[in-house]
Amino acid sequence: MQLKDKVAFITGSASGIGKEIAIVYAKAGAKIVIADLNKAAAEATAAEIAATGAQAIGVGVDVTDEDQVNAGVEQAVKAFGGIDILVSNAGIQIVHPVDEFSFADWKKMLAIHLDGAFLTTKACLKHMYAQGRGGSVIYMGSVHSKEASVLKAPYVTAKHGLIGLCKTVAKEGAKYGVRANVICPGFVRTPLVEKQIPEQAKTLGITEEQVVKNVMLKETVDGEFTTTDDVAQVALMFAGFPTNALTGQSLVVSHGWFMQ
Ligand code: NAD
Repeated sequence: MQLKDKVAFITGSASGIGKEIAIVYAKAGAKIVIADLNKAAAEATAAEIAATGAQAIGVGVDVTDEDQVNAGVEQAVKAFGGIDILVSNAGIQIVHPVDEFSFADWKKMLAIHLDGAFLTTKACLKHMYAQGRGGSVIYMGSVHSKEASVLKAPYVTAKHGLIGLCKTVAKEGAKYGVRANVICPGFVRTPLVEKQIPEQAKTLGITEEQVVKNVMLKETVDGEFTTTDDVAQVALMFAGFPTNALTGQSLVVSHGWFMQ
């Protein structure tokens, strides 16, 4: 198995993309830490994975809180003896035009997406460096790490920012065999996206069907949503890649919405 006995700390993994990554990693032999703001859902997801015979624990962590992040990582290390893979995935979406965006919502978005990535990276790198067996840091970017859309200023800003953090971690981590990469998915039909469809319909004055067809999937090659499994397979490839040859990269998985 590709990730046999590797320990994976995955944030925002009680739902959507993070949960699918946890399931795919568990099948590949990894020990899973489901770290999520929703502690009950994290524990329920860990129990679901443990029921398949894999090892998994759920921890309640707000990625914007340094003490909670450090405590969650320590709990993981205590349970499984180290950290080999970090998937910094927790995220939310808030949509407004820039001139109407409240400063509080702007700061909330940057805190979850950027502070969360920094805090979890810092806490996990300490262990990866000390363990001396390398590691893989994976950031959940977006097509919005490369491209902008209306109404999403802090999301687009934060997702672009993750590429900068990734490249720096790739350079600093290389001598420890720690790689860093970004996955940039197109639209995936998770609760995060389901919530946006009626919101965008209202703001843009169009139907929900038009939001899906003419906004979300308009630029794809085939009008299809990316799936959680599509993203999880890319996360598996980044996690299992054996050398520093694949580091500092960002890979778009979006049905051709954005081509680099
Ligand atoms: P989701 O809403 O299904 O899951 C997000 C999870 O993050 C939830 O379990 C939530 O409880 C958790 N979370 C939220 N705030 C948190 C915090 N402060 N601390 C810890 N956990 C927190 O969303 P998803 O679509 O699976 O999104 C996961 C990631 O993928 C996000 O970073 C998102 O920006 C990114 N992404 C999603 C899409 C998409 O179309 N769904 C596309 C590109 C990128």
